[in-house]
Amino acid sequence: MTDTPTDFSALPLAEATLANLAQLGYHQMTPIQAASLPAALAGQDLIAQAQTGSGKTAAFALALLAKLNPRWFAVQALVLCPTRELADQVSAEIRRLARAQDNVKVVTLCGGVPLRGQRASLENGAHIVVGTPGRVMDHLERGSLSLADMGTLVLDEADRMLDMGFMDDIRTVVRQCPPTRQTLLFSATYPDGIAKLAQDFLREPVRIEVKAQAAQVTIEQRFYEITRPQRLEVVAKLLLHFRPASTLAFCNTKQQCKDLVDYLQQQGIGALALYGELEQRERDQVLAQFANRSCAVLVATDVASRGLDIDQLEAVINVDITPDPEVHVHRVGRTGRAGASGLALSLATLNDMGRVGAIEVYQKMSSIWYGLDTLTPASTAPLLAPMVTLQILGGRKEKIRAGDVLGALTNTEGGPAYTREQIGKIQITEFCTFVAVERSVAHAACAKLNAGRVKGKSVKVRIV
Ligand code: AMP
Repeated sequence: MTDTPTDFSALPLAEATLANLAQLGYHQMTPIQAASLPAALAGQDLIAQAQTGSGKTAAFALALLAKLNPRWFAVQALVLCPTRELADQVSAEIRRLARAQDNVKVVTLCGGVPLRGQRASLENGAHIVVGTPGRVMDHLERGSLSLADMGTLVLDEADRMLDMGFMDDIRTVVRQCPPTRQTLLFSATYPDGIAKLAQDFLREPVRIEVKAQAAQVTIEQRFYEITRPQRLEVVAKLLLHFRPASTLAFCNTKQQCKDLVDYLQQQGIGALALYGELEQRERDQVLAQFANRSCAVLVATDVASRGLDIDQLEAVINVDITPDPEVHVHRVGRTGRAGASGLALSLATLNDMGRVGAIEVYQKMSSIWYGLDTLTPASTAPLLAPMVTLQILGGRKEKIRAGDVLGALTNTEGGPAYTREQIGKIQITEFCTFVAVERSVAHAACAKLNAGRVKGKSVKVRIV
């Protein structure tokens, strides 16, 4: 790895692309980019083993963008993702990287939204489609999407897609892609199903494996031995001791998630649960709150947290040790992104020691144990997220843009003008808008928005 150039300028990329990368702050390639981009840009098929946070999205996005002709109105690349959240993130990253080229159109196709709007977007001309296999298949069946001119196929988080039962859908979609296409397969793990998929659909692929190093070195793993009844209490102790601003805690079942959230809330710790059976609307709301830093702790099952990509995750807590060492590494790899250090805390009962052993073997690393007596609250203050989410009833349908919301908060109508620093992430969905504001001004900002106007209209706003 040491003699692989890590400068983007070593790649055959357009000047404008290089300038855009510099502007985005991408100064050096990440290991997965350095290992995969030369082959991908040369048109070869690829199997790349990479985790979320490794920079894998840019690795395939740069490759497909380099080949793309924006003046040709046809779908030239398709990216299949396991979840809507991941598809949204991938689309956003592709759009960022495409800023250097003129007018590249990216359309996201996922379930849970009416087909009609998506059909209209496709009719308006799309160069790149990012979507989940089921919905992409729907469009193919209805004839609203054609892959006949497509040059690059990306299977992102292929192992997750297989776990989620998308194998047949993927096969159906891939059969409609031209045989001459380039295929780039990204997967965090390499189970048999992936090998089979690669054998069937890839041509002499270059296999790239970048050990989860970038993440691993900056993540500190600590193990705590507990008895089962101590579990909830110890999680609260860990949170109050380390006081991470943003934590993802994994439980094995929905009921455990709910119990832990109830307990943490009683202890003055802001927590929300994320599990499979949530309605899309509830799930969106939970994810928006966690992503914009108005929820300190997200308690989730593995399945529910798939595709979830949150920057700045200070800590991961394994409330239950998973029987699958790969899942453990995947969980742990969610903290410590982009060079920041992360904390991975695992609770194990005596019965879990076999699982811990399997993890040690898999990680080739022995566990470091800490006593519960090392946990002393750093402060007795409640552990609340720095921001609070306001929900505006009105979204993309009402043509609300982030600038409108920002304007309504920073003007002097109906209440004090807020500074840009007091306002956090603004997320606009189909029917509503989420805006994060500093906790101390939440009530006043909510009243101000209710009293004032957004995009010239009065709106209903509530604290989530
Ligand atoms: P990913 O693994 O694709 O989810 O990327 C993780 C994060 O790293 C994203 O926020 C990217 O914007 C960022 N990123 C990707 N490539 C680079 C790079 N070469 N330098 C700095 N940040 C990067």
